[in-house]
Amino acid sequence: MNAEILVKIENLSKYYPVTGGFFSKAVDYVKAVDGVDLAILRGETLGLVGESGCGKSTLGKLILRLEEPSGGKIYFAGENILDYDKRRMRKLRRDMQIIFQDPYSSLNFRQTVGEIIGEPFIVHNLNSRKVERKEKVLKLMEEVGLRPESIDRYPHEFSGGQRQRIGIARSLALNPKLITCDEPVSALDVSIQGQVINLLQDLQERYNLTYLFISHDLSVVEHIGQRVAVMYLGRIVEISSNERIYKNPKHPYTQALISASPIPNPKLKRDRVILEGDVPSPLEPPPGCHFHPRCPRAFEPCKQKIPELKEKEPNHQVRCFLYE
Ligand code: SF4
Repeated sequence: MNAEILVKIENLSKYYPVTGGFFSKAVDYVKAVDGVDLAILRGETLGLVGESGCGKSTLGKLILRLEEPSGGKIYFAGENILDYDKRRMRKLRRDMQIIFQDPYSSLNFRQTVGEIIGEPFIVHNLNSRKVERKEKVLKLMEEVGLRPESIDRYPHEFSGGQRQRIGIARSLALNPKLITCDEPVSALDVSIQGQVINLLQDLQERYNLTYLFISHDLSVVEHIGQRVAVMYLGRIVEISSNERIYKNPKHPYTQALISASPIPNPKLKRDRVILEGDVPSPLEPPPGCHFHPRCPRAFEPCKQKIPELKEKEPNHQVRCFLYE
């Protein structure tokens, strides 16, 4: 892997305390993210997939320090940002942005589109002259395909897809290097999803953006990412290029997710792997390999030991005893 690393995380964890008793002491911990190692290369899209509740959104927020980790390290452009004080972190925020799933709840419905997109300039004391700011906002609106005459309209006057464009324009305002896209198209109609994904891809090319693209839907990530990391109950279980993951998934969890995702050509058939039950509660994760109660290929060691994430083929890591 020769490409430059923009983000590197080492042994990153987030444990939420579960309190109980008279003094509300921590009696247990929910391990939402549990010892994750990951690198995101400059200019790539890394897909982060898994069912709801597997910790992918928490991991996305930890990388941006929107939540503080319980342990581990986060390097951004080579520097451990967990050492940063508030002032340095505030400056760094210009380089790291996030797009949320539900553009409506993430936009202030009392602000006009112009105010929403222009807000980052005010927060970071940039383009302080109103005229200058408006010019920048109009340029951003054009970039994302919003009509300039809608600058004084409010979010409720827009469709879901247009609202997501407003969120994308705001995230672009400060010329970020990394954008975490947290389920950015899940709330949109399928017909609109493609348009928003195309827009994100165009912008990536134009501005050499790096995306961490979080989704529960593997078929969405297949078309946008270069590499995919699959997460299950707080741990990465497989990571490789899109091509390898979709053509030759190795981990039984990835195989099941891919077998359940729709394929564009109905004549082609996939052998369906049925996953029993839901993701177990992270408060009481199964011992050993967390996936063993649902795994069609589980065998004795799976219940007792935690498999490590190991490189099985060049640039293809898997956490499963079947490959040891
Ligand atoms: Fe299944 Fe065992 Fe592999 Fe876990 S380690 S995925 S339970 S075969």
